[in-house]
Amino acid sequence: MRVLAVGHPSFQMHRSPTWHPERPDRLTAAHEGLEQAPVQMVEIQATPIDTDLLESVHSSEYVTAIHGFCSAGGGDLDPDTYAVPETWDAAVRSAGAGPLAVGRLEEGAAEAAFCIVRPPGHHAMPNRAMGFCIFNNIALTARHLADAGHKVAIVDWDVHHGNGTQDLFISDGRVLYISLHQFPFYPGTGWLDELGYGPGTGTNVNIPLPSGSYGDVYREAFRRVVLPVARQFGPDWLLVSAGYDAHLRDPLAEVNLIEADYAYMANSLVDLVPQGRTVAFLEGGYDLDAIRDSVAATFAGFAGVIDPAAGPHGQSDPAAWRSLELVERAVAEFWEVH
Ligand SMILES: [Zn+2]
Repeated sequence: MRVLAVGHPSFQMHRSPTWHPERPDRLTAAHEGLEQAPVQMVEIQATPIDTDLLESVHSSEYVTAIHGFCSAGGGDLDPDTYAVPETWDAAVRSAGAGPLAVGRLEEGAAEAAFCIVRPPGHHAMPNRAMGFCIFNNIALTARHLADAGHKVAIVDWDVHHGNGTQDLFISDGRVLYISLHQFPFYPGTGWLDELGYGPGTGTNVNIPLPSGSYGDVYREAFRRVVLPVARQFGPDWLLVSAGYDAHLRDPLAEVNLIEADYAYMANSLVDLVPQGRTVAFLEGGYDLDAIRDSVAATFAGFAGVIDPAAGPHGQSDPAAWRSLELVERAVAEFWEVH
């Protein structure tokens, strides 16, 4: 299996003047993980996103303000999110990585793609940077595909709810958004009753899980909710917000996934779309070894090389199972679930 690795040296130049968990070493770890996966890596360089596409998701006022802020030296965009002069080039190339990958996959260059990008994207709102994110990389790619007539499923296993992505597609039935995340937790959104409205009614599925959850409940959530809903939706493309902060070693969150859980989740998605129609995006994940090993496991899963006996690491408590039951009940209004 060939996997496009979409990167660029500018992504290393987006760096906080003081220590910050969202740091350049994360890219090196992700890249090493892909090298260790049983796939053939095809490296390509990210190009800046087309301005019209960028401004189809983010307002032109916001885009101009970010450009001006970076040019003027940068600083803090919010208490979590920094920018430096080099951030602009990194941000427009991070945003451009997904659309570039889509084009290369359509040409038959590989069977999947991994955008190894910074800054990450899934918290970014149309008019607002937040949670280390400036432009919503995965949402821009989904918009690009949807506007070309495709149905897009986004699966977001970053431990945080992708509030920016949800917001952008909450009333858009062309894009199915499914997120598994720790709850209650940053950014505060992502409860199971946020199911979409208008033409997007039912196409926003949140699976909030309590701190201390293990891979057992994640795997069951895939079997009982993620896969049944995604199959009924029938996407042409699969985009994955691949954060690695639900790993048990991650310092920012309290979910206990191990590498084998990422392999399981990725592997279970393999038949959802035809080969060459899957693009993963690096979102969060702040323990370097966890990122490396989990990326390797993810792409082993996509390549079909998994150990069915591996993991999960422990047993989730009854609160996690109750959350999953509540999700099933809420989702059953729109989809046939287990
Ligand atoms: Zn995260």
